[in-house]
Amino acid sequence: MKIHIRDIPEEGLALNSTFPNDLIDKREDDGLTFIEPLDLHLKVYKAQDELIVHIGTRGKFHAFCSRCLTDVKQDYKTQADLFYQIESRGADFIDITEDLRQEILLNLPDRVLCCKDCQGICPQCGTNLNENKCNCKE
Ligand SMILES: [Zn+2]
Ligand SMILES: [Zn+2]
Repeated sequence: MKIHIRDIPEEGLALNSTFPNDLIDKREDDGLTFIEPLDLHLKVYKAQDELIVHIGTRGKFHAFCSRCLTDVKQDYKTQADLFYQIESRGADFIDITEDLRQEILLNLPDRVLCCKDCQGICPQCGTNLNENKCNCKE
């Protein structure tokens, strides 16, 4: 995703795009993966020798609940600002793809739960305690 510096007018530039979900690796521990490309809203401003990029992303991911392993779908949304020095780069454009990817990863939840008070799985008999009770002792 490239931003051409000369294309940015005084009042800033708004860009709508999508971020390819295949650039974001499936997470190892709970299989978290984005379902569709993320919606991307960018606002780019030039401020003296700096480029400011407001980013807003929106998407949906699925993952396995970290307690009961149920497949969970959740909305994802984040906002952030990225800053770039223009002069020092000496280029006509700035590629923000990698920074954007990092920002998206940074804002993923550390762990996903199917619901706030998920009861998990009985460690002894494997019953999903959200659905059934079991007779194992605590
Ligand atoms: Zn759960
Ligand atoms: Zn049990």
